[in-house]
Amino acid sequence: MSQPSFIRGPTPLAPYCTLAVGGTADYLATVQDAAEVLDALEWAHAAGVDMTILGGGSNCLVADAGLRGLVLQYSEGSRRILQQGQSDCLVRIGAGHDWDALVAWAVAEGLCGIECLSGIPGRVGAAPMQNIGAYGQALAGVLEAVSVVDLGSGRFERIEAGDLGLSYRNSHLKTQWRGRFLVTDVELRLRRGEPAPARYGQLEEALAAHGGTADLRSIREQVLALRRRKSMVYDPEDANHRSAGSFFLNPRIDDDDISGLEARLEALGVSPESLPRYPDGDRWKVPAAWLIEKAGFEKGLVRGPVGLSTNHSLALINRGEAKATDLVALAREIHQGVRERLGVALWPEPIFLGFEQSAAELLEGT
Ligand code: NAP
Repeated sequence: MSQPSFIRGPTPLAPYCTLAVGGTADYLATVQDAAEVLDALEWAHAAGVDMTILGGGSNCLVADAGLRGLVLQYSEGSRRILQQGQSDCLVRIGAGHDWDALVAWAVAEGLCGIECLSGIPGRVGAAPMQNIGAYGQALAGVLEAVSVVDLGSGRFERIEAGDLGLSYRNSHLKTQWRGRFLVTDVELRLRRGEPAPARYGQLEEALAAHGGTADLRSIREQVLALRRRKSMVYDPEDANHRSAGSFFLNPRIDDDDISGLEARLEALGVSPESLPRYPDGDRWKVPAAWLIEKAGFEKGLVRGPVGLSTNHSLALINRGEAKATDLVALAREIHQGVRERLGVALWPEPIFLGFEQSAAELLEGT
């Protein structure tokens, strides 16, 4: 089979990723519909090359060596209402649709359920991968199903949300099914009526400070304002913009480890009572950003071409001319520093692509 015209040869990936690092993909295809997906799969199978899916590039770290084989980006981003009810609305969205543009549409239509997810960068197709969540809401609350193509067989399938293994910033698509499916559409069931009351301290305070109204528009505005203050809205004018948002997951810690952490904090002269913790099943969720700062890594830290955002200690940034290896070195320094000083292991949220070692090996190595 000859190479379809929409499959390009060697293409630098840094411009496709918000961290703006990473080498070249052997081939890159931006596919628009099912027919192009199938052509791309047929060509890749015949040519014997690997395939990697790229969304909006806002949650990945690409190696300096780049990616071998074909990088597929699905760009179809239509929006279609499947069911319009009195109390809810079922909508199907193409994976290439910008996530925040979808939230803006839902808010304008008076549809509730994703307003707190305003300002999250990336595309709709990436949202189920890590069950995006913020300010007390998560995709799992509204996700009905995803449509996918099995990259091995070329079969199109619809997977119900209940079968996706959605959990805190995780799903089967990110773990045991990683690399197996290309998400083509997402179905969300959004609710009409009043938005649920904010259950998240920072958002409640921001709403109260702005007149106490908690309609959909106010919630979206306040979430965007909170995120902007932390440089968590993608804005090329912001010096912190070359990042992947939160670089580390917030750890979940059991009672024994909380006691160990409290003892280590005390030894460092930090009051254990000041440790923020939120109940999460039989564990505690602890903010990674707080641990990073207590371990001595302040906002605005600089390590040559990389550093920490001046507005959020959880965002590693490329200060302009960084390589992926520079970011890995800083991530390793923070991972090891937090573990040595506080006994907690922090693991990265972005997906590492094209590295010979796993993210865990890279962070644990010396
Ligand atoms: P933050 O608000 O400083 O919160 C840090 C940690 O504390 C998070 O684990 C958060 O849980 C938890 N937390 C804070 N208040 C809570 C409450 N009232 N009840 C339960 N847990 C609480 O975090 P941030 O870094 O500035 O981020 C703001 C929000 O955006 C957070 O919800 C964060 O998870 C989210 N975010 C999501 C993504 C993503 O989906 N990829 C990326 C970046 C940030 P939760 O994480 O459960 O909220």
